[in-house]
Amino acid sequence: MIERLRFPVAQSRGRQYPEPAHPYRNPFQRDRDRIVHSRAFRRLEAKMQVFAPGISDHFRNRLTHTIEVTQIARTAARVLGLDEDLTEALALAHDIGHPPFAHAGEDELNRQMQRYGDRFDHNLHALRIVENFEQRYARFPGLNLTFEVREGMVKHSHDFGPGERPELDRYLPGLRPLLEAQLIDLADEIAYNAADLDDAFSAGMFTANEIAERVPQYGAILEAVETQFPGASAREQFHEALRQLIDALVSGLVEGTAANAARAAVADAEAVRHLPDRVATFTAETAAASRALKQFLFARVYATPELAEDRRRSVSMIAELFGFFVEDPRRLPDPYTRLAETDPPHRVVCDYIAGMTDAFCRRTYEQAFGLPG
Ligand code: MG
Repeated sequence: MIERLRFPVAQSRGRQYPEPAHPYRNPFQRDRDRIVHSRAFRRLEAKMQVFAPGISDHFRNRLTHTIEVTQIARTAARVLGLDEDLTEALALAHDIGHPPFAHAGEDELNRQMQRYGDRFDHNLHALRIVENFEQRYARFPGLNLTFEVREGMVKHSHDFGPGERPELDRYLPGLRPLLEAQLIDLADEIAYNAADLDDAFSAGMFTANEIAERVPQYGAILEAVETQFPGASAREQFHEALRQLIDALVSGLVEGTAANAARAAVADAEAVRHLPDRVATFTAETAAASRALKQFLFARVYATPELAEDRRRSVSMIAELFGFFVEDPRRLPDPYTRLAETDPPHRVVCDYIAGMTDAFCRRTYEQAFGLPG
């Protein structure tokens, strides 16, 4: 479709520490494999997405969410003619910098850091993981990923201008990310909207008709499903309609992006970087559907008292642990104790907490305060 905008792997700016070529895997395929084999990737299994574990064993966690994002992003990349391996690597890595307890955890870590004039950003943390914290190779720290994967990791969800983020000056500030990276955020949006709808429906938080009232695109699909499968159960009709909605959203992403590329008449991947705006986009109709879904989920799921109570507990656990370790960094385990002698303690404590899984964070809290988290 828009093969001309595919980033040619042969033009990669390469790795920080040069390595010999692999006989049958190209650099993006190797990056994908390195991410899958990393410890940060495996920890995604024990980090929550929206619902805390324990309510149900088939709700999404951050690992299964990541697999869904990857599937959607790869499908879009393939049909558009983009580099599927680069897209896959970026999708697999897109949440590895997430701290425990989802967005509540991220916001609280950021709030704690702001008290020291610093900040926490999960994309930046992901970069630090792949550049430093993963220690698996004898010859270099981190995973030594290609420039394009690291750039996509810090840029997939927001652009930054020159001088805005001094620590990211190496990553072409002011330029758009490659189209493969631009797909990730929208694939993420499709995946979490659909998954949260599915999990919250399973938790009995609303009926399919209540979604239909607020999300017209879902309503139209549901009506057709009810006519076509009148004997199906309400649950089957819900799932059938959701499946078709995901398909419509992915198609909207593919069509919107292809139309945008045609309109902007961009010649190649390098030209994508120099456009004032991103190329990846939904069609107007699917953008409206995605917005309506978000609003529905906000009102009926994210802002409900049950989830607010979960968030309140997670936030206070992180805040208390942060204070506990900053007050006396010798309470940190090695090598963090030693790091805190040279680096700002709040930064070391932040890195330690950000790497925790939900369960490990709870255990640490229990050990620190002798109370269940
Ligand atoms: Mg995500």
